[in-house]
Amino acid sequence: MNQQKILINKIAQDKLDFDLGLQLLLEEKNNFKELFTTLQNYIFNSIPNKTHYNSEAYQNAIDTIPLKPTYTPIVILKTFPTKIAFNKLASLPENENEKTVTTLLWIFKITDTERRNTECKNGCGHFWHELE
Ligand SMILES: [Zn+2]
Repeated sequence: MNQQKILINKIAQDKLDFDLGLQLLLEEKNNFKELFTTLQNYIFNSIPNKTHYNSEAYQNAIDTIPLKPTYTPIVILKTFPTKIAFNKLASLPENENEKTVTTLLWIFKITDTERRNTECKNGCGHFWHELE
């Protein structure tokens, strides 16, 4: 796992403060595409429903993103089914990157926490759930 992935998982597992971790991720300026792809894969993997990529935790996450609900990435996520919404997020202008990363990191924190509390509860083979 590279530093970026370690950071994301530590934030999701409450081993690193959300705001601090977010700043560290955003400091690496030129990696938006890679970061976006990683977060998208992580979120999709953490949602049990592989048909619609939707769940109560996912909806709850969208409703609690720590940004103004009128920001474009949040409006898109609330308006469109998950896969279509993510395609739209990927093609937003660069000045939305920070909001998009904040949004996706928050969603993964919620959906991964839900997974750790349910399907991972009695032990799982996810090595990234074993971080110190
Ligand atoms: Zn796990």
